[in-house]
This record gives sequence, structure tokens and C-alpha cells, in this order.
Amino acid sequence: MAGIDIEGLATVYPNGVRAVDGLDLHVADGEFFALLGPSGCGKTTLLRTIAGLENASEGTVRIDVADVTRMEPGKRGVAMVFQDYALFPHMTVSENITYPLKVRRVAAATRTATAGRTSSELSLQGLLERRPGQLSGGQQQRVALARAIASEGKVLLLDEPLSNLDARLRLEARTFLKKLQRDLGITTVFVTHDQAEALALADRIAVMQNGRLRQLGSPREVFARPANTFVANFIGSTPMNLLDGAVAAVSDGGSVSVANGSLPAATGSVPAGAEVTVGVRPEYLTLSDGDVNGPSLRGEVVVAENLGTSSLVSVDCGGTLIGVTVPEESEPAPGTSVVLTAPEQRVLLYDRESGEL
Ligand code: ADP
Ligand code: MG
Repeated sequence: MAGIDIEGLATVYPNGVRAVDGLDLHVADGEFFALLGPSGCGKTTLLRTIAGLENASEGTVRIDVADVTRMEPGKRGVAMVFQDYALFPHMTVSENITYPLKVRRVAAATRTATAGRTSSELSLQGLLERRPGQLSGGQQQRVALARAIASEGKVLLLDEPLSNLDARLRLEARTFLKKLQRDLGITTVFVTHDQAEALALADRIAVMQNGRLRQLGSPREVFARPANTFVANFIGSTPMNLLDGAVAAVSDGGSVSVANGSLPAATGSVPAGAEVTVGVRPEYLTLSDGDVNGPSLRGEVVVAENLGTSSLVSVDCGGTLIGVTVPEESEPAPGTSVVLTAPEQRVLLYDRESGEL
């Protein structure tokens, strides 16, 4: 088992693209770590640079304390699962799983034992003699995982391993992967562009944009307290409300004026009158039909969208649309007059220019 330390890492392609652009990261021993960001932000490049499949242009990569920056891939002790699985089509499941061991000249009897053990860990019993073409997408995905685990690397690198599965299977595979990682306790870096997947699986999440780190934190932290408006926009199944606002006078207590009213806010050292972007998640706003003590907004319900057990209600507050999540049974009808507020600690103030907290 091993941690990963990345310092000042940059990976520049021959065409000049700085796909990874100055990154510092520490992945702890045994951690399930997610790299999350939009397509093209450099996730695959970072993973391939850790694996040694791309050369670092600047900085260092350490695995289990050892500097592996210039070490060839096969010696780094990493096991990688590629997005397209990269199974060998002409080999059986068993041969695929044990291929890394064969390359290392591990004895046949040991390889057979490993194939037996990992195939049962990954629910592939009975499929060992099939070829990849005779397997479902979910089974192929598990063979790719089995091959990575059988190679007994110190760290497991997974590049969007669930993205080729359909929605239902993806959820099942997600649960399976979470349990497997916990049982094995292997340090895992998991790449995804799907924020829900990262929130569900990871101990910690690194949110990337343009080759850089925009926030590092637990799923709870990045959800409840995005460090900037980029992360605020990227994380969450329903979009965070990001509204133009201004910090109210000190005599009004801690509040910020937005739309046609105001919301409570911990204004801290932000001076009165400062123009800010106010971030508040639909899940943290509350909606009532009567008066509210303290800062609030008045509005009229425009539409409500069914989210299953809850509804996302759009409220028109003097021309500004604000989303509020309510339990399904208290969904108000369009046209209803309502009052919105939120707990002070759920109202975040971002710098209007930089977008940072
Ligand atoms: P992600 O996995 O987050 O979608 P990638 O790491 O694949 O992002 O790509 C990051 C950036 O590097 C993109 O701008 C992409 O076009 C570029 N890129 C990726 N691979 C290469 C390559 N082999 N040569 C040149 N540019 C590349
Ligand atoms: Mg990628």
C-alpha cells in the first residue's frame, strides 16, 4: 500500500498544450481519490503521467515515497484500467486477468490461483474460458478491473471505468467498485467527469479545470462550500443559484441584498456595499407561504420539476429566477406567492471579479 505525492507537476504535449499545468496533490495510503472535471481538463493526462505513460515536463511524482518521475511504467507498481478497458480480444478472460503476471514470469500454477481468486472477488466465476467478445459491457469492465487487481500494484488508477455502461448498470457497478475498494484497501485514483459519481464514491475529490486544481476536499466540502463559482457550477445535481448581490449595511445585521429582497449571510470582512456573487444551493433554501423573521425574498412560483421524491421549484423574485428544492408532497402550484430564506451559513459570498470565496 502506498500514497501518491505530486509536486509542481506539468505535462506539456509536443503541440504545446499544457494539459497538466502546475499541480500539487497528495493521495493518502488506502484513499479512494476522485479526479473530477469537464472533458479536456487534463484528467487522463494526469493519470497517464502518474502511470508513466506520459512524461512529466516539470515537477515530481512519488509513489510510496520513491521518486518515480523518470521511472518506466512497468516498474512504478501502478495498475491502470483504461476507459475502453483495452482487453486482449484473442485471449480468454483467464489469460487477460493473468497477463501482467505472465509478463513478470510468474509461475503458471500461481497465475491459475490468482485468476481463480480475483474472478471470484469480481463475480466472474464461470466466465474464465470466454473471450471478451462473448461478455456484456459490465462483465468486460470487471475483467479489466480484475486484471488490474491481479497485477498487485501499489496503486490503482481508473480512467472513467464506468462511463461505457448504461445508466442502470453504472449504478450497480458503482456500488460494487466502492465495496471492492474498501475491502482491498488499495490506494485508488478514479477519474470521472460525472460529479454525482465522484460525490458517491470518493473519500476526497480534486476538481480540475484547464490542467489546474480548483478545489480539493471531501464530497461534503465541495458540495456545501464550493471554493469558487466554477466548482459551484460543476458540483450538484441541481444547479447552484448564483445571483448578483451587494453586502448590506452593518446596521441591517449580516445580510446581503439580492433580487427583490435579501438573505442572511456571514459577511465577515466584506465591506458594506461590496458587490458580490451570492451562491445558495436549491437544497438549502426554504420556501414558506407566510412571513419570515429576518432577511428573505418574496416571489411567485413559475414551474416545478419532479425530481422523484423532491421537486425543483422555480421562483420569480422580481424578475430573478431562483431554484428551490422542496419535498414532493409540499410542491406549490404555479402562481403561488411564496417567501424564501436560507440559514446564514448556507449563503456563500463570492468575489464578483475572481469568483473566489
Ligand atoms: P480529460 O481526460 O480531462 O478529458 P485529457 O487529459 O484527455 O483531458 O486532455 C487534456 C488536454 O490535452 C486537451 O486539451 C486535449 O485536447 C489535449 N491532449 C490530450 N492528449 C493529447 C495528445 N496526445 N497530444 C496533444 N494534445 C493532447
Ligand atoms: Mg479523459
